Amino acid sequence: MDSCIFCKIIDGTIPAKKVYEDDDLVAIEDLNPVAPHHVLLIPRKHIVNALDLTPEDDGLVGRVFRAAAAIARERGVEERGFRIVQNSNPDAGQSVFHIHFHLLAGRHFGWPPG
Ligand code: AMP
Ligand code: ZN
Repeated sequence: MDSCIFCKIIDGTIPAKKVYEDDDLVAIEDLNPVAPHHVLLIPRKHIVNALDLTPEDDGLVGRVFRAAAAIARERGVEERGFRIVQNSNPDAGQSVFHIHFHLLAGRHFGWPPG
């Protein structure tokens, strides 16, 4: 999608610090990290948010979660813990309308979220 910032990161038009990629997704460092570890897992397919997922995306979501867990393990934060967050629409704080999953770790996260 032409006007989408994450599509541009995926096609290389906009630079980003990639930490992982495969056929289905790209993982990058968030530009404005809110935790010591803040990685965005972005499916290559332009899906708007959770409301836009179809049955054909079921496997993709599983692969995103497994990639996030692998990155958490790689960084040694799996025992302390980590959070995977997907924001859909304004009340949740979604600002980029290409689905992505935040992997957050390295500090304590409160519950309920703010
Ligand atoms: P959300 O608010 O859930 O839509 O998350 C969007 C995230 O994308 C925010 O955490 C931003 O800091 C991050 N972000 C926006 N533009 C970029 C970029 N060019 N490179 C890396 N992260 C970005
Ligand atoms: Zn996109």
